[in-house]
Amino acid sequence: MNIKRVAIIGGGTAGWLAANHLGVELKHENIEIMLIESEDIGIIGVGEGTVPYIKKSLQRFGISEAELIANCDVAFKQGIKFVDWLSAEKHGAGHFYYHPFSSPYPAGYDVTPYWLANRENLEFSAVTEVIGVAEAMRSPKKISSPPYLGEVNYAYHFNAVKFGKLLAKNAREKLSVKHLITTIVGATKNDDGSIAKLVTSDGGEVEFDFYVDCSGFASLLIDRELQVPFIDKSKQIFTDTAFALQIPSDGMEEIKPYTTATAHKAGWTWDIPLTQRRGTGFVYSSSHMSESQALEEFSKYLQLDVEKLSPRKISMKIGYREKFWCKNCVALGLAQGFVEPLEATSILLTDFSAEILARNFPRNSENIEVLSGYCNKVLSYAWERVIDFVQLHYCISDRDDSDFWQENINSTSLSEILHERLEMWKLNHPKKIDFFSQFDLFNVDNYLFVLYGMKYLTRVPPISTYEAGVSKAQFAQVKQRSEQLAKELPSHREWLSKFERAISNPK
Ligand SMILES: Cc1cc2nc3c(=O)[nH]c(=O)nc-3n(C[C@H](O)[C@H](O)[C@H](O)COP(=O)(O)OP(=O)(O)OC[C@H]3O[C@@H](n4cnc5c(N)ncnc54)[C@H](O)[C@@H]3O)c2cc1C
Repeated sequence: MNIKRVAIIGGGTAGWLAANHLGVELKHENIEIMLIESEDIGIIGVGEGTVPYIKKSLQRFGISEAELIANCDVAFKQGIKFVDWLSAEKHGAGHFYYHPFSSPYPAGYDVTPYWLANRENLEFSAVTEVIGVAEAMRSPKKISSPPYLGEVNYAYHFNAVKFGKLLAKNAREKLSVKHLITTIVGATKNDDGSIAKLVTSDGGEVEFDFYVDCSGFASLLIDRELQVPFIDKSKQIFTDTAFALQIPSDGMEEIKPYTTATAHKAGWTWDIPLTQRRGTGFVYSSSHMSESQALEEFSKYLQLDVEKLSPRKISMKIGYREKFWCKNCVALGLAQGFVEPLEATSILLTDFSAEILARNFPRNSENIEVLSGYCNKVLSYAWERVIDFVQLHYCISDRDDSDFWQENINSTSLSEILHERLEMWKLNHPKKIDFFSQFDLFNVDNYLFVLYGMKYLTRVPPISTYEAGVSKAQFAQVKQRSEQLAKELPSHREWLSKFERAISNPK
């Protein structure tokens, strides 16, 4: 049977990302795409931090960077500043390191052996310009930088609701995606167990050939109808609850060009600056901290009485679906799974999965078996490695000031691959060849910053005088460029204000 009608259920970030990916892929084919969302069930609206992967997708969709910045309260994100992820006793309270988006190989050269030999006097993030640029609150771009490019690599912080609207406008206007507002209450099935029709709250039925479940934590089709098992990861990732709170800003102060992730006794706090407000959230393990303690700690962090401001409590189910694709249904976004907000992995995984689906979209139901088999393998691998990367932040810490940290550092629930890699990296530092799959969405570029930002101990390799000389010169060059960029680049706020003035007074 030819696939001619596709339904996407859910109008959050996942639904509209899927609509754009499928819209681009199927633009010239006679296949109708319809996004269905309920006006009674809101979107989660908290995913505001991204990684640079999103830039590639936005360009693919035909969304200009100017449109994004003008419509979504965008601020630039050069990476994440991790505060207090190590023992205060050993490293001092307020210790921090950066996980920037820039490459850890200045001029393409591996300077890690030299850094290992000199680690006492040098922060690992000195392999990039980030310390100079981010700490000086500089924009990653010059005023004249081309779209989607900067002097240092970057992604975005944005207003999730406005981002969804921008994606929706693009999908509807440029990619002919249809939009239906209704609440789905169930589905009927074909003899082979695939989804036949969706049942709407007014008793009607709508029929499609293929279904994309983007219904958020409700997992309307993949769970309720198809009952695809959920792989629970709460033994690896303990954080399961968050309080989210938006703090208005006066729109005048400098904007940090990074996410701040500050660890506490049972999790961490996110702090995401946008142009007119901060998005903040207290993430914690409910088995290790009570709700009242969490609110007290969150209040201390914000220096506000959080309870009076009614923060939104969100329970997080940690894990992912055994199959993202089952019969004629694919799940994306929170319907597919969730780790926790650290490292902004969710929009990345959703974007990546939606692209995989689009590139492997079956034109005929007979193709589903082979395509779904391949895609399910890819996605399971990608999910497992994302979970490894998030767990890494907890399990290599030397904090031992609470049960939460002690249980994390003594955890035996590491995947075989993470366990093996960590053992190997005690002997040899991570190299590009250790990541032999392109589906490792976090690879050596990311691991080096986190491992060595967190002072992971690796044997110091022998290095030749030549290697030492080249590496030393490269650190010196990065330092010089970093100082120069900190002077030359406009401040983050200045770049965004100039942009705003330019679009409100076009010549
Ligand atoms: C605390 C927290 C912090 C996060 N922070 C980040 C971050 O910084 N970076 C990041 O990448 N990700 C983050 N995420 C994840 C991010 O929020 C999601 O990946 C993203 O918002 C996509 O959500 P979604 O579209 O899958 O679901 P939702 O936004 O929940 O959308 C679900 C949609 O389904 C529709 N729907 C549901 N049921 C029905 C029904 N019966 N009939 C019709 N329609 C229905 C709803 O109307 C809605 O449109 C965070 C998540 C949490 C919980």
